[in-house]
Amino acid sequence: MDKKTKKCPVCEKGILIAADDILSELEGLIFVEKGERCNSCGEEFIPEETGQKTIGIARRLNVWGHPLKLHRKLSKSTGGTILRIPQDIERAMDLKGDEHVLVSKIGKNKFLVELEGAHIV
Ligand SMILES: [Zn+2]
Repeated sequence: MDKKTKKCPVCEKGILIAADDILSELEGLIFVEKGERCNSCGEEFIPEETGQKTIGIARRLNVWGHPLKLHRKLSKSTGGTILRIPQDIERAMDLKGDEHVLVSKIGKNKFLVELEGAHIV
């Protein structure tokens, strides 16, 4: 192994590959961050400074310490699969219910829903 290849400290089998779609959770909020992922066990590593930056952003957005994460079950309709947005999030984001959203697939079992044209106040 050359010096650039980092071995996974968790499984000690895989190597760490750069990834820019790592989801990290802070106080119930999800952030997409850059870091490394093991190609064997899938363990994700985020550099300390990136983690600190995320905390800074969370504080600046005033979302720090306001966890908005709830478990939801998908339901099926003739039109497709339905995800109900929890009322807390609906209220906090002032959703009217007719917004256009972008849905992105991130990784194997995660997706991200963004309000289209949304801006941070
Ligand atoms: Zn590993």
